This record gives sequence, C-alpha cells and structure tokens, in this order.
Amino acid sequence: MVHFVGAGPGAKDLITLRGKELLEKADIIIYAGSLVNPELLSFAREGCEIYDSKELNLNEVMDIILKAEEAGKTTVRLHTGDPSLYGAIREQMDILDERKISYDLTPGVSSFCGAAAALNMEYTLPGISQSVIITRMEGRTSVPERESVEELAKHGATMVFFLSSFDTKGLSERLLASGVSPQMPCAIVYKATWQDEKKFICALKDLHETAEKNNIHKTALIIVGEAVAQAGYEKSRLYAPDFSTEYRTGTQNNAKEK
Ligand code: SAH
Repeated sequence: MVHFVGAGPGAKDLITLRGKELLEKADIIIYAGSLVNPELLSFAREGCEIYDSKELNLNEVMDIILKAEEAGKTTVRLHTGDPSLYGAIREQMDILDERKISYDLTPGVSSFCGAAAALNMEYTLPGISQSVIITRMEGRTSVPERESVEELAKHGATMVFFLSSFDTKGLSERLLASGVSPQMPCAIVYKATWQDEKKFICALKDLHETAEKNNIHKTALIIVGEAVAQAGYEKSRLYAPDFSTEYRTGTQNNAKEK
C-alpha cells in the first residue's frame, strides 16, 4: 500500500492527524526534501527506511516503492503542502495503476493557506474579490497560453503565484503590461509557517526590488490583488445582524439569501 500524504506548508504541527499516523506506521518514507520540513521525520518509527526524493528521478522513486510492495511493506510518499497542487503525483499514481498497486491520498494544508495565516489574511473579501487564482509562471514546465499571467490578470481576482519567485522581475513586468496598477498591493511570503518565515507587503511596482533586497528567489509565494490590503471590503451578509439564515432569525426577515 502506498499513501501519498500532504506534509503541510512547513511547521511540524501542520500535518493532519491522519498524515502523522501514516508516518508513524510507515515502513518506508520518501519525502520531498527540498520543501518538506525534516522535523516531520521524527514521527517515523524506528527502523523505518527514509529517502529524500530531491536526489531521485521518477524511476528511482518508483523502484523504491515497487520493491517495498514486493516485500509487503507500506510506503508513505510525503509531499509538501497539499499533494494535489504541483505535486507530480499523477505520474506516480499512473505507474501504480498499471501495476495494480493500491494507494490513497491524504490532503495537506497548502502553502497558500499557510501564507494567508502568516499575513492574517482573508483571500475572499466581499466587495473586493470572491475568487482566488492559483497559478504559476512557466519555468521548465510550460503553462497553457490561455492561463498566461496576462490572461489571468484580466479577472482582477486575487492571484497566488507558486513556483514563480525565481523571476519577480518578469512577473511584475508582465502584470504591469497586462494593465494591473503599479500600486496594486502584493505580498511575498517566504517559507510560510517555518521558523524562518519572512513576509513583505509592497506595491506591484516595488515587487522585484522587495524580493531582491531580501534575497528571495525560491520557496515563496507571491500574492497579488486588492485583497492583500485587507481594507475597503463589505461585511459579510451571513453574519449581518439584520439578516436571517436557516439557523438564526435576523432583525429583518430576508431568509432567502445565503
Ligand atoms: N503542493 C505544494 C506546492 C508545491 S510547488 C503546496 O500545496 O503548497 C512548490 C512551490 O510551492 C514553491 O516554489 C513555492 O512557491 C510554494 N511553497 C511551498 N511551500 C511554501 C512555503 N512554506 N511558503 C511559501 N511558499 C511555499
């Protein structure tokens, strides 16, 4: 059996209880050492074999898993944040499907949630933005043209850029060229929820300089949008005193809206 487990964004206590239990029982752990906090490995039982996947290619990872299966062992494949985002898990699951090996997924706290916590931020502020676009700039992996920075910026929604802090110059230039205001609030969150977390808020025009000055080129998220300012929003209808819901009667009876 293979368990794909989300390690969470960094802090050791941000893995799920299920993820921790799977780590405690695993015979083999393969973890993404470039981003997973090694403190999580302290949950491994004695005698557990531990491999860092940052030094391995897909075939090598799969060899370890397939050998473990032959020996009737349980493997935990520990991915950073939530495995469903930029986790490269599909290619692993496809090989397991071919071999008829069972597996399951345990979600994790994605780094974009860790970053919101670092900033005391609500992404979806009424009257500001009700959508979050999770995306990346192209690097070695391409991005479909219809999902280019330029296309997505048209929505005016809150944007969270993964895997893009290596080129804050390119990113800010492309956003500006797409018509995003030079004053648009941005946040850079480096190693959200780790001990050495760093966070910066600046205007889009200063994004690159802020990243440069603080030497941030990786392990960071860049958040762009009015929501970053956390101001000028409308209060939620759900908690408005005059508003009735399925669960409580407000001072005016308008129970239909949700
Ligand atoms: N599955 C992960 C993302 C993996 S892609 C998740 O759900 O978070 C790797 C990218 O995620 C990094 O380049 C960086 O942009 C971002 N990232 C991962 N951990 C981070 C953290 N603790 N703080 C800020 N960004 C992080």
